[in-house]
Amino acid sequence: MSFAPPPFRSPVPVRVNLYSDTQTRPTQAMKAAMMEAEVGDEQHGDDPTINALCDRMAALLGKEAAMFLPSGTMCNQIAILGHCRPGDEILAHETAHILTSEGGAPGALAGAMILGLPGAKGQFAADTVRSAIREKSRYSPPQVMLEVEQTANFGGGTVWPLAALNAVAAVAHEHGLTTHMDGARLMNAVVAAGVPAAEMVAGYDTVWLDFTKGLGAPLGAVLAGSADFIGAAWRWKQRLGGSMRQGGICAAACLYALDHNIDRLAEDHANAKLLARGLAQVQGLSVEQPETNLVFIDTTASGIDATELARRVAQHGVLISVMGPHRARACTHLDVTAAQVAEAEAVLRAAIV
Ligand SMILES: *Cc1c(COP(=O)(O)O)cnc(C)c1O
Repeated sequence: MSFAPPPFRSPVPVRVNLYSDTQTRPTQAMKAAMMEAEVGDEQHGDDPTINALCDRMAALLGKEAAMFLPSGTMCNQIAILGHCRPGDEILAHETAHILTSEGGAPGALAGAMILGLPGAKGQFAADTVRSAIREKSRYSPPQVMLEVEQTANFGGGTVWPLAALNAVAAVAHEHGLTTHMDGARLMNAVVAAGVPAAEMVAGYDTVWLDFTKGLGAPLGAVLAGSADFIGAAWRWKQRLGGSMRQGGICAAACLYALDHNIDRLAEDHANAKLLARGLAQVQGLSVEQPETNLVFIDTTASGIDATELARRVAQHGVLISVMGPHRARACTHLDVTAAQVAEAEAVLRAAIV
């Protein structure tokens, strides 16, 4: 049993890194903003840059309050800890990051269970939520929270339509469940759909945004919700060791990202479409049409599995990730140009013989 991260290193210098939008490096300009950040002790509420970021995020997301945290995983887990008690049940898509990719943290930390809901593209219907609602009895676990991912990562980077988001949230609220949005790539959805962030998340009691997914910051995520919820969440931030000191140096990178790296997400989406269009011509590969910056590639018809495809292209300095036996993912981001996409496409094409 290995607890090492998955291998994605290339034996040659990396030319195009499509492994993840987390692979971006802070630019000189972002680093300059970090160097100039005014800082203080966050635990005492005295870091002006973190305070400015939280105020700005609360306004952007239309919530009363916000909290700066080191990672998206901590945002999800603090939200779950705030909403759930041991034995409580969360409804989420069966491919949700909280279910598949956070080391079992909802069980390990909050003692919560997750009921995985089926549905195409990482999304589920209001009727699916309705039929998952259990009769309240001393036999059934208390169902306390509904979670959605915008965009749905393993669903293909798909964008929940606003009406669908509101419909599932309404069913949840009708049955007394709180609603939580994993908005790791929320701004990709906002840019792709042209719906303002606050409107998109209005049906959700808590929501967070990751600054390391395509926005180019080295760390940081912001969780937002009611003033009461965020106030209580501070105890969990403290307990988990997520309460920082001069963290403003990192919040400055996030503020820089808000100013410079949001609108340009449209370029990543255009590059993803470009790559998908090119790969659709390759016999043996089947490509899901990307809605945002994630391109999922099915290798079944090629006779090789996704790991072999990733290994072959890595020989030529192109990195992609493996998401299933025959499912690979190529992810565009601010360190990938259209020319690099064309280069990656040629390497992927040549890898299928
Ligand atoms: C990456 C990701 C997370 C976790 O964020 P980290 O900042 O890596 O901890 C959670 N949810 C989704 C959908 C993600 O893609």
